[in-house]
Amino acid sequence: MSPPSRPLAGVVLTVVALLTLAVPALAEDGTTTTSSTTTSSTTTTRPDSGDGSETTTTSTTAPGAESTTTTTRRATSTTSSTSTTSTSTTTPTTTSTSTTTTTVPDAVVTPEMQARIDAYPRTPARSTDALVAALELVPDAATTGGFGRFPVGGRATWSHDWLFPRHEPELHFHEGTDVFAARGTPVLSPTAGTVRVSNGGSGGLAVTVTQTDGTSWYLAHLDAATVRTGDVVGPGAVVGTVGDSGNARGGSPHVHVEVWPFGGAPLDPKPLLDAYADEALRGAPAFVAGHRLALLRAGAA
Ligand SMILES: [Zn+2]
Repeated sequence: MSPPSRPLAGVVLTVVALLTLAVPALAEDGTTTTSSTTTSSTTTTRPDSGDGSETTTTSTTAPGAESTTTTTRRATSTTSSTSTTSTSTTTPTTTSTSTTTTTVPDAVVTPEMQARIDAYPRTPARSTDALVAALELVPDAATTGGFGRFPVGGRATWSHDWLFPRHEPELHFHEGTDVFAARGTPVLSPTAGTVRVSNGGSGGLAVTVTQTDGTSWYLAHLDAATVRTGDVVGPGAVVGTVGDSGNARGGSPHVHVEVWPFGGAPLDPKPLLDAYADEALRGAPAFVAGHRLALLRAGAA
């Protein structure tokens, strides 16, 4: 959580009203053909929508024509229409372009920011599909340790969104990984530590688990917390449920996972999350076998 020095918020309304290109070409019968392409694109950005919604709108007319690219985050409405007409005429080339851009102060990703985002090495998106399948014989696997240290006990997806630009409460780099899952899916502690529950701000309802070495895991946008500040938990313990609280409100429910090693600056959690999911998948056969053994023992008792 290290927002830039420039607080930037507002609304960008970009209206690319009309781009008209007339391309003359000589037809076989000697007449001139004019192709006319009209592209109209409107992109509206509002800073009050949830985390994790990004839209890039690109309007391009025809080869060689003017191209307008508008990249916005948290785009809440995007409309675009394209019409193409061809007519035979002897009229010479005509080109008219009208562009209107209205900008109210807003977060702008500078070229320096974009370069840092682009330069960051990223790994493929992941899911817990294989893990969920491996655990399907154990109905309560999510709450009994089947997901190991992975922080979401159920079907979940995550991508390498570290350093992606975010706009709440102001433009900053995303310093975590968003793990998307259905609302109400159990959120699990990735480690052993002491709990702090917080509520408010961009993270909404959040649980922080701090290890004895000072390393903290911050799990945000929860729907509910099932622990209290001061509780001591182990890895895999249920600490809450997936939601959309804080600035994720109205967006796809997810857990924002952030890790601060030894109380220091945030570290990219994606490799750790990948490793924890892999670890849980490797352990799934033994976990399922243990569950079946426990059932046999219970039946024999
Ligand atoms: Zn996030």
